[in-house]
Amino acid sequence: MSLLLTGATVVASLHPPTLVGGDVLVSGGRVAAIGTGLDQAGSAQRIDCSGCVVVPGNVCAHTHAYSALARGMPYHLPPPTSFLEILQRVWWRLDRALDLPAIRASGLVAAREALLAGTTTLVDHHASPNAIDGSLDVLAAAFEQVGIRSVLCYEVTDRDGPERADAGVEENRGFLRRVAEGRWPLARGMVGAHASFTLSDETLAACVALAHEARAGIHVHLAEDQADEADAEARFGLRAAHRLANAGALSDASLAAHAVHLTAAEAEVLRASDVTVAHNPRSNMNNAVGRAPLAWLGPRLALGTDGIGADMFEESRAAYLRLQEDGLDTPAGWPLTALTEGSALAGRLFDEPALGRIEVGAPADLVVLDYAAPTPLTDDSLASHWIFGLSAASVRDVLVGGELVVHDREVTRVDADELALEARDESRRLWERLERIGPHPFSPNLAPASAGGT
Ligand SMILES: [Zn+2]
Repeated sequence: MSLLLTGATVVASLHPPTLVGGDVLVSGGRVAAIGTGLDQAGSAQRIDCSGCVVVPGNVCAHTHAYSALARGMPYHLPPPTSFLEILQRVWWRLDRALDLPAIRASGLVAAREALLAGTTTLVDHHASPNAIDGSLDVLAAAFEQVGIRSVLCYEVTDRDGPERADAGVEENRGFLRRVAEGRWPLARGMVGAHASFTLSDETLAACVALAHEARAGIHVHLAEDQADEADAEARFGLRAAHRLANAGALSDASLAAHAVHLTAAEAEVLRASDVTVAHNPRSNMNNAVGRAPLAWLGPRLALGTDGIGADMFEESRAAYLRLQEDGLDTPAGWPLTALTEGSALAGRLFDEPALGRIEVGAPADLVVLDYAAPTPLTDDSLASHWIFGLSAASVRDVLVGGELVVHDREVTRVDADELALEARDESRRLWERLERIGPHPFSPNLAPASAGGT
């Protein structure tokens, strides 16, 4: 089935900003041609995009779809006073309450909301300690059912005991094998690892060994909070990035989320390893963990939401405004550069280097924005329109791999009402289980090494 998008302004690339005129012919899942006089035989389905802007689909470089049913969940414990208490009292209770049906419902909700926001790829980090086996297949199936592209991994950790740590490694291994066999055409895998402070040397080594064996990258939280660094120093006499680098966990295929509490020397290690860093400004604000030293992090800097939906218009706007508050000298195009880096990461994982651009031969992951620009839209002004004008509310149609998965502001592959019913049903059950689970007892070692670790 061929599609012809007619009459739009086409953003061929976000960085450098490049606008072109002409219609876009999509065939065989790819951009087949851009120009005028296409499809003279009239065999393609025509979509009138007059007055619209067509942009490459956004990539969310770090998220947790399992948090999709957390919105409004009950909370009766004392309010958390630190990042660690947020984990112990909120997220490490929620993940233990997840079962496979709740994971499926979370995946359906996350995928639908992402597509409706113009995000066509989710890079997910999944945890469900009481439903590990098969969890990534359930998530991949939910994502494929809605039609979104994804990169999945299971978050390996020692916080729930050695058996679950082993099961996490095996879940990654099995999923990577099934992806390699072609089971999930729209999904790829990484090896998930929670964070230095919940990983023993043995478990971290098992993750690295699997990553080498499967030729996959590692997706890990790094220095999100000072606790990660304090623990690495207390247990190993090393900063967290140095510990991960020494273990072989940082490479050009890997992804480190947050990188807030880095020293300059750690940032240098990240730059030297070519690891991609996912910056999550709204999550960092919400958890009051501090500000990532963006100027140190080098060019491989992408944007993620850390589970606060997958709206990359919102995330890039927050990233820009937060940086601007620090010094008034943020280049307007900075968010577009970071979004392009997210696409580059996805492009490497899917072996599709043109992902994130609209050019002949590129995978047709495209978003049609219903946006009547009130001022001229040019290469030079695109960044300003992105920050001060465009939003997820402009998203009208979305293509993933050439298929129209959002049409006239609704997903095409699943019934939105049925999906909402399933989600509300599962969230009720999830919340009931959650209420029976207490704060997680795991705590990192926060004593500095210089104090003898006692
Ligand atoms: Zn995260």
